[in-house]
Amino acid sequence: MDPTEGLTSIKGIGPGRAEQLARLGLFSLEDVLGFMPRAYLDYSAPRKIADIGDGEAAAVKIGFIGKPSIFRAKTGMTVVSVSVGDETGNMVASWFNQPYMLKSIPKEPGGYIVGTMDRRSGARLLRASFVKNLPGVVPVYPLVKGLSQSVLRKTVKSALSACADGIEETMPPHYREKYGLIGLREAIETVHFPKDTASLAAAQERLAFEDAAVLTLVLETLRGTRRGESGISFDTSGVLAEFLEKLPFEPTEAQYSVMSEIALDMASPQPMSRLIQGDVGSGKTVLALYAMNVAAKNGYQSVLMAPTEILAEQHFEQLKRFFGERAAKLTGHMSAKERRETLAGIADGRFIAVTGTHALIESGVEFARLGLVITDEQHRFGVRQRAAIGKKGEAPDTLIMSATPIPRTLSLILYGDLDVSLVKGMPPGRKPALTKLVPENKRIDMYRYIEKLIRAEGVQAYVVCPMIDENEELAGVQSAEALYAELKENLGLRIGLIHGRLKAAEKDALMDSFRRGETDLLVSTTVIEVGVDVPNACIMVIESAERFGLAQLHQLRGRVGRGQKASYCFLLTGSSSKTALERLRFMTTTSDGFAIAEKDLETRGPGELIGMRQHGVSEFAAAALAADIETLKKARDCAVEILGGPNDDCRLLREKAMRKYERTLESVVIN
Ligand code: ADP
Ligand code: MG
Repeated sequence: MDPTEGLTSIKGIGPGRAEQLARLGLFSLEDVLGFMPRAYLDYSAPRKIADIGDGEAAAVKIGFIGKPSIFRAKTGMTVVSVSVGDETGNMVASWFNQPYMLKSIPKEPGGYIVGTMDRRSGARLLRASFVKNLPGVVPVYPLVKGLSQSVLRKTVKSALSACADGIEETMPPHYREKYGLIGLREAIETVHFPKDTASLAAAQERLAFEDAAVLTLVLETLRGTRRGESGISFDTSGVLAEFLEKLPFEPTEAQYSVMSEIALDMASPQPMSRLIQGDVGSGKTVLALYAMNVAAKNGYQSVLMAPTEILAEQHFEQLKRFFGERAAKLTGHMSAKERRETLAGIADGRFIAVTGTHALIESGVEFARLGLVITDEQHRFGVRQRAAIGKKGEAPDTLIMSATPIPRTLSLILYGDLDVSLVKGMPPGRKPALTKLVPENKRIDMYRYIEKLIRAEGVQAYVVCPMIDENEELAGVQSAEALYAELKENLGLRIGLIHGRLKAAEKDALMDSFRRGETDLLVSTTVIEVGVDVPNACIMVIESAERFGLAQLHQLRGRVGRGQKASYCFLLTGSSSKTALERLRFMTTTSDGFAIAEKDLETRGPGELIGMRQHGVSEFAAAALAADIETLKKARDCAVEILGGPNDDCRLLREKAMRKYERTLESVVIN
């Protein structure tokens, strides 16, 4: 069958099921084959009870099995439990609200039990089931409501048997040999139905290699196209001195050094394509303002795009300082009259420096003489959007500002089409949050302390949990709903709960209440918005902190320490893993985002680094990022080699790159 065929072509999939699958972005057989499990449960060999760590999924050979019991609470809830042992110890397997499990519990030892260990209250196996034979390595797919793992596995199986023959090999044999890659078809089959962890690793490497190579092909092509273009050669002389006179502070050394890189780029006739990376608060706006001054001095308009209205408003205040009447702002929330006038001023060149939101990339916005395009917080804009605004001038210079520190090797893969500048360090006078690692047995003391602090100082706190409710597949992890209930009962504070399943209006209302100081403590998942700025919030608690990437912890910690008062960050963990504790301890020693990103790369790998699941890096980049850094480097070399030669046998790969460019490049975004 043709891989582009729709899903209803599979027996057993009707319109209803197809609609559910569509919500996962799955429309064709091809989509299903490319749908990657988000995790794997390793049941390929039995484990000893004593060795199974908290939160780990494992299979145990049953050496002893007790008499099952069922408990019925007044609320109607039922708990079925049974004690299971091997020569290293015992554990209790429990099922909540599944009384029918009672029947499936074997009376005799032998056979296996599989499930996820929860060590918070002794040794408890959650979501357990009994099997005769070891299930091997089991994929876990992302789900939406109404779909189960078993439905997805069946769908994948059907898609594979329908069109495995249609999978064309994209890597010519000499590259497969050179880089030690298995075949594409084998790789796809293996990621869905792995035989063991070793063949799974080889399959993941093959797919990640290909994705990284494709991404590099695309980015290098873009970079090459741009190199051939000729842009504006700006005269930069004298701009810096004038700029500094209007600036209320002295730039840091890092800011000076980036300004000189910008000046060189702008003076060159080749269009600038520069990415500026610097932590939140490192002072990137100044750099944008400097570049806008260079453009204005040369009679060119510039535009500064912001991801939110609030940020656009902040930028507008700055622009007025430098450009007075010639500064303008364009957002979605303007009256028709205001909008018309602003558009007219942009079109006739009266406005020389413009800021705004996405509204700026709509058609109908015509610039008289656009010379510079700056996007702030680039992760919110896809490559395609960058290109769209770029088209509004003739090869204008572009500057992209990102607050996500990414190590150099990775930025080559992700931003291969751009030159990169780093803003290291912070402007003087910033107080980093005092960061403490808090073990699980101190959490009650910690919350009491926070309660006192909030009462005495009138400050506010964020508490971030890795998941919304107990329903998700992580044992031993604090959920926002459960914690909210617990804190509400035990603390005399005004407590709010915010998470991604709430409607936008509800979230806004909760955030507003927090901003106005009507909520003392806000329990949330990682949804608390980027750019949320509540100076009075100076306490950040992160529950089950070992569940987060360091870079993500760093971003979360960045939400506090914005006001005058001392700020705190508490990293709670029940983990006893040495590496987990070492990683978390590192957070208490530094607030340097780049050092943290490097450490994250070292200890968890690039995929985790960017917290891709939580932040929706496109699936495209996500697969590449799941690879280790060596694979990414090799893939990049391979792509550069392919671009260098005629390489007719790589036609398929190049076509794939172009197709992905059409379809997906738009969403190659990083948060
Ligand atoms: P970001 O990199 O997050 O965009 P901003 O440009 O908004 O950071 O700067 C953060 C704050 O630091 C602003 O209030 C800005 O005025 C201030 N700032 C920036 N550079 C300096 C400096 N060299 N000296 C003192 N304050 C600075
Ligand atoms: Mg900024």
